[in-house]
Amino acid sequence: RIAYVNGQYVRHSEAAVHVEDRGFQFADGVYEVCEVRHGMIVDLTRHLSRLDRSLSELRMAAPMSRAALTFVIREVLRRNRVKNGIFYMQVTRGAARRDHYFPAEGTPPTITITAKSTDPSAAAKKYANGIKVITLPENRWDRVDIKTVGLLPNVLAKQQAKEAGAQDAIFIDRDGIVMEGASSNVWIVTPDGELVTRPAEHGILKGITRTTLIDVAKKLGLKVVEREFKTEEMLAAREVFFTSATGICVPIVEIDGKPVANGHPGTVSSSIRDTFFDVAEKTAI
Ligand code: PMP
Repeated sequence: RIAYVNGQYVRHSEAAVHVEDRGFQFADGVYEVCEVRHGMIVDLTRHLSRLDRSLSELRMAAPMSRAALTFVIREVLRRNRVKNGIFYMQVTRGAARRDHYFPAEGTPPTITITAKSTDPSAAAKKYANGIKVITLPENRWDRVDIKTVGLLPNVLAKQQAKEAGAQDAIFIDRDGIVMEGASSNVWIVTPDGELVTRPAEHGILKGITRTTLIDVAKKLGLKVVEREFKTEEMLAAREVFFTSATGICVPIVEIDGKPVANGHPGTVSSSIRDTFFDVAEKTAI
């Protein structure tokens, strides 16, 4: 495997950044994960736009132009022969002697890109069976709209889910409002057949898959409502599912040990999945 690190393509096993990288010391960095399907990068433009937003919210400089970045991403995918899989891209405020203040002007950002192939049949199995989740109190900072590498609460939530015999966790705020998953956005299908997801202006990451799913729903003639909903409403929903670039649309069949509807994945999530790739933007490698 090959990784890209600050201008060089290096063996993945030897790819490294400095010990005083601010990503390592302060989680002072941002990232993106993109899906690759049938040799096509899914929703690249939206992911690169979100990266720009994350960088600007943290007052970090873009490591290179969008055209150059797209070239490097394609090169990493080509060198790893990825046809189905993901790439991961991280940008930090660079390496500098440890000090909370921003480093001196001109300190170059650190950029790394890795890619890996994934097995489409493993994903299909997950869709077919759905996943179990637990709910946990929201304990993150209030700028989770920025896609930073500071993911400790998410790491602890996922591990807690795993130890509870589930696969994932959903954060619930103090008022009982459903926020998002540890690495995905949450949707419900109401008994009336409406697709509901909470507004993404604040309190959650505005998922790219979430945005594209709104386009998919339009194509399928499904009504999408962006409003808050509580745990009780989620438990009474006809379907509950996650969206994320890596999972696209993953049905949730059990929440805190209670089945969602009849405990099997629903038809709305599967028709969305069947249509998603047709609607999403596709960039050939
Ligand atoms: N929320 C969080 C906390 C996430 O980590 C992710 C995945 N990066 C998402 C939502 C879904 O975003 P996307 O659809 O862009 O992958």
